[in-house]
Amino acid sequence: MSLLVIGTVAFDAIETPFGKTDKIIGGAATYASMSASFFQKKMNLVSVVGEDFPQEGIDMLNHRGINTAGLQIKQGEKTFFWSGRYHEDMNSRDTLDTQLNVLSTFDPVIPESYQDCEFLMLGNLMPSIQMSVLQRLSRRPKLVVMDTMNFWMEVAMPDLLQMISMVDVLTINDAEARQLTGEYSLVKAARKVLSMGPRYLIIKKGEHGALLFHGENVFFAPALPLEEVFDPTGAGDTFAGGFIGYLASMNDTSFDAMKRAVIYGSAMASFCVEKFGLERMKELTEAQVDQRVQQFVELTDFEITLV
Ligand code: AMP
Repeated sequence: MSLLVIGTVAFDAIETPFGKTDKIIGGAATYASMSASFFQKKMNLVSVVGEDFPQEGIDMLNHRGINTAGLQIKQGEKTFFWSGRYHEDMNSRDTLDTQLNVLSTFDPVIPESYQDCEFLMLGNLMPSIQMSVLQRLSRRPKLVVMDTMNFWMEVAMPDLLQMISMVDVLTINDAEARQLTGEYSLVKAARKVLSMGPRYLIIKKGEHGALLFHGENVFFAPALPLEEVFDPTGAGDTFAGGFIGYLASMNDTSFDAMKRAVIYGSAMASFCVEKFGLERMKELTEAQVDQRVQQFVELTDFEITLV
């Protein structure tokens, strides 16, 4: 049994109130697979980069046991590039530039050794590519989790809606939930999304935690209050990677397991924001993950006697 992650492998240029980076390694699939690798050992990646992508980036993934046989390297072409600037509160950002480059002609190839995929993370990517990956698997995975972004709502809404109707879990942030449904109330937005196809919806609210919706049930996980958030880039993907990585490692797709998975996802995201880009994820250890999950348990642990 394996976990397959797709999404962008990218160059990012980031501006936060703490500083500015030139092109650094990023991408939705990079963050999600790095995060999931802390839980699930059999990890496969499908994505594409240009010839400008450094070997060091591929080594970083392989070092965490991520199989990159499905990562295409396009000679003579450039890697996907994204640049963003965070506002003072770090909860919102503006995209300054998105250059699709290799992504615009990407035709994903699923290596034969990936066909035992039981858990599929459709990370942020062009919806039509997410669709072709799902169609090219010989059997539908047990659980399909999808992440997306406002960019695709603006340029590919019909494809996006079709894709959303085919997944089990959708993860989006609060602004995207509002944009997708036209509803300001997140409860109303969730009801609409759940009527579009997914059985579960996760709405990420940055430093205000995450909500998991399923039927009439709602579960809330806080974010860890941190003294300093350096760079929120990739926090959403890191959350999604931790979420599906935990479920894959437990081989459990029940609502109770999903509640725990939301906590694991939140714990992973809390590391991601502590340094720029993937710096924190690169040095992270399994013991630190366990310790942080324990902090989450303590953060919300209380007893109450109703009088
Ligand atoms: P997050 O902060 O979790 O929303 O993810 C940020 C990552 O998503 C960055 O590393 C970017 O390279 C990547 N990204 C930005 N825009 C897009 C897009 N339109 N499609 C796919 N990935 C993107």
